[in-house]
Amino acid sequence: MQFDDESVDASELEDQRGGGGLGRGLAVGGGGAGILGVVIYLLVAVLGGGGPDSAGSPLSQPGGGTSGDVARRCNVAGAIDQYDDCFVLKAFNEINEVWGAQFARSGQTYTKPRLVYFSQPVRTGCGTASSQVGPFYCPPDRKVYIDLGFLDQLQRNYGAQGRYAQAYIVAHEVGHHLQTLTGTEARVRQAQQADPSRENPLSVQLELQADCYAGVWSTLANNAGNVTIGEADLDEALGAGQAVGDDRIQAQAGQVNPETWTHGSAEQRRDSFLTGYRGATMASCGTVPHA
Ligand SMILES: [Zn+2]
Repeated sequence: MQFDDESVDASELEDQRGGGGLGRGLAVGGGGAGILGVVIYLLVAVLGGGGPDSAGSPLSQPGGGTSGDVARRCNVAGAIDQYDDCFVLKAFNEINEVWGAQFARSGQTYTKPRLVYFSQPVRTGCGTASSQVGPFYCPPDRKVYIDLGFLDQLQRNYGAQGRYAQAYIVAHEVGHHLQTLTGTEARVRQAQQADPSRENPLSVQLELQADCYAGVWSTLANNAGNVTIGEADLDEALGAGQAVGDDRIQAQAGQVNPETWTHGSAEQRRDSFLTGYRGATMASCGTVPHA
């Protein structure tokens, strides 16, 4: 995939890699939990609280690098292609640009999420996250958390090659931000609390809608000329969606149990992405909860 320009805006970025962190020994779901931990944590993130560290401690923002460092390094010709952190930030910029325009068109205000890069356990509004949780969005603090190491790991483990697969993941997480802005996330959380037996099916609905929004973004960005997405890119995105389908993840972990799915099967995720890609409107992704 290609962006129409190379300028990168780091004003929403909090770079918490490297220094700071929460100190040693605080990793939750780390070590052997690996990929399975992603499923659990993303569910926690969707629920908006009660995470592994649910004591409700206030957000701390341990120091890391500064976003200014990233901006300087990324606003250089070729940096977006060369560095994962520059690419992901650029994708994040383009995703927000598209949704900002889309919301404005319907007379609504779009508030951007913030983007946090982390490489060590990090305290969030949803609890403490180890660096193995994978990318996630936390509704209470409205931040997208990206452990860039996970994107590497994803490519290695699942063969989800390519830049567009990475952009798809960021678009999925920003899709969860849309669900917070529209009130969908709050509605689903209430429904889950009212009927805990629906917790996982409702989580799947949220996740599939976020996949659908990623598809919508892809078409809107393409149409606006912000990015050029080719057929091969689309295959990559679908590959990534399928790679992180719960059935695949659980198959790798040794068992498949649909009752515990929180993200949907590979096929469901592919279908949802394509629904958004073809429909190209948020409405085409339907409303959640649905029956
Ligand atoms: Zn998700």
